[in-house]
Amino acid sequence: VFHFQAAVLRAPRETISVEQIAVDELRGDDVLVRIKASGLCHTDLEVVDGSVDVPLPAVLGHEGSGVVESLGPAASGVNIGDHVVLSWKPSCGHCFYCVRGQPILCEPTSQAATAGTLLDGSRRLLAHDGPLNHFGFVSSHAEFAVVPARSAIVVPAALPPEIGALIGCGVATGVSAVIRTGELEPDSNVAVIGCGVVGLSAIAGARLAGANVIVAVDPNSTRLALAEGLGATVLVQAGDEIPTAVRNATAGRGADLVIEAVGRSDVFSQAIEAARPGGKVVLLGKVAADARISLPWSALMGERQIRRSSYGGARPLRDFPFLAQMYLAGRLDLDSLITSRHRLDGINQAFDSVRAGTEIRAVVTH
Ligand SMILES: [Zn+2]
Ligand SMILES: [Zn+2]
Repeated sequence: VFHFQAAVLRAPRETISVEQIAVDELRGDDVLVRIKASGLCHTDLEVVDGSVDVPLPAVLGHEGSGVVESLGPAASGVNIGDHVVLSWKPSCGHCFYCVRGQPILCEPTSQAATAGTLLDGSRRLLAHDGPLNHFGFVSSHAEFAVVPARSAIVVPAALPPEIGALIGCGVATGVSAVIRTGELEPDSNVAVIGCGVVGLSAIAGARLAGANVIVAVDPNSTRLALAEGLGATVLVQAGDEIPTAVRNATAGRGADLVIEAVGRSDVFSQAIEAARPGGKVVLLGKVAADARISLPWSALMGERQIRRSSYGGARPLRDFPFLAQMYLAGRLDLDSLITSRHRLDGINQAFDSVRAGTEIRAVVTH
């Protein structure tokens, strides 16, 4: 039996308790990872605040990085001592969706994630009062995590752990939305609506891909200043009419690619209207599942290609090492995304500051 500290959420809107939990034995392809950094992604906060429903009690955290400590009997593809970024989407490779090239929709992975288990349908984490649910196979708000081998993506040891954590969710989503789902061509004009971690990563990705004009839209001037530092060439304080502002910055046509990273029904509509005829729109934000969206019909005219994506088309095995390499080569500037560091026992205060909206990304480090 192996003991370590973990942040346990027992019910929505309750204080998270940092307590000693146990893992009895590694099974199958389990990988035990010593966590070095764990980002407080907004999805965690939605669970804490009760707007997203997952099986509780659970150890949250789905944006983590660390070092492989030990391996289950069938774990392959990783070695003890490897530096890894954890993935909340460890696709199986052979289900209906995986064989059709849509691993983000992997059926067994989605079922296990919804149930709060690992891929074999069981749980590894034990609190004093019973088993704990896993969160997206990662559960990184802890000193250690037990993940399936497919969720442990090896990256260079030189990658700072905090940057590794962000690559696991927010950065992969934003950069991939531009270069994978958006298939951005050099010399294109891009508009990014919403400058949190995902939007700012999309801006960094647009610069990496050789975009010409990069319009950043956000109501907050501090975030717009960060956007400028990452490569935005036109700053638009939201509240201005977004489609008009984007058209003004793109010879009157609208952007070749619009990335929406806000998650508000009225912004979805404005994002689509900000794209040029024939342009692409990637909607990354989310609203309540039963929310209605209304659009002027003209927004759907003109051969626009509209895609909704939850991970921007990122494929962890391909993209985590790629993003790490780009960071290490100085081509993807991600340091400014980390706005505060916390100890594990300060996680409730860290979530308070995420809730207050003052963070780009708060990170728990060990
Ligand atoms: Zn996330
Ligand atoms: Zn699958």
